[in-house]
Amino acid sequence: MSNEMIEFITKSSLYSSMKIRDPEIKQLLQIYDKESRFELFCAECRDKKVFIYDCGLNNVKATNLKNKISSVGLLTSMSYQEDRPLDEMDHLYLRFNCSLDESHKLEYFFAVKGDSIIKVGQYPSSADIDLPQASRYSSILGKQYYSELKRSIGLHSHGVGIGSFVYLRRIIEKLVYDTFKEAEVAGALTEQQFEYQDNVRHRNGMEEKIKLLKGFLPDLITDHPKIYGVVSKGIHELTEEECLEYFPVLKDGIVMILDDIVAKKEKERAAAEYKKSLNGILSKMK
Ligand SMILES: [Zn+2]
Repeated sequence: MSNEMIEFITKSSLYSSMKIRDPEIKQLLQIYDKESRFELFCAECRDKKVFIYDCGLNNVKATNLKNKISSVGLLTSMSYQEDRPLDEMDHLYLRFNCSLDESHKLEYFFAVKGDSIIKVGQYPSSADIDLPQASRYSSILGKQYYSELKRSIGLHSHGVGIGSFVYLRRIIEKLVYDTFKEAEVAGALTEQQFEYQDNVRHRNGMEEKIKLLKGFLPDLITDHPKIYGVVSKGIHELTEEECLEYFPVLKDGIVMILDDIVAKKEKERAAAEYKKSLNGILSKMK
């Protein structure tokens, strides 16, 4: 079930705000009723897990019950009458727990201002939950790029748009260049074809480069290269808000590329192991 509230609660940076109207209240009540679950990295399981609402929304439920909205079933046929769904609320707190172990929690804090909520805190920090395979990523990216990735996530979680974006951009450029090198070794592309994309006028260099790397980068990235066009823009062309908005998609793209590389390496290692044991048996059969 798509729930933009969950996206906002779990992914937005500190001090981001969201207007709470009828649809958002419905989504909050869906969370309360445990109809909306989501997958996120559990820092304690050290793996992706499903998280379920634990507590915190009692005040939302109570306020909206008072306004004669009693169940989600009713909500679909009834539109919200009051224009102040956050009436009498001065804060919003939400806690979720990991489906594997209830003691693994995610906590989020919001201030209420008028008809909006503003994220003012979360625990664990997003830098701790955003990198599902941290040690493996650092071996692929190298120490410098890996610490830049952590730094960019930290900056974004504190609402720093352009600063976080600059680091992310460097990492995307590196990964795309590394992937090109792989394609070059495989004989699929030449340096000239690849670098040419930067020189053609009215063309978006990064977008075109990513298109050329189909088969070498994850399909979800090569099939939707448009968003990476933003990487080719000059820093002066980007606004703080634009950077904050693009950040989660680009960061997820980076994680997807890294997961892909981890999976390839594991496959290669398994194939090498298999070959070794196969050769052992074959030599005995001679
Ligand atoms: Zn867990």
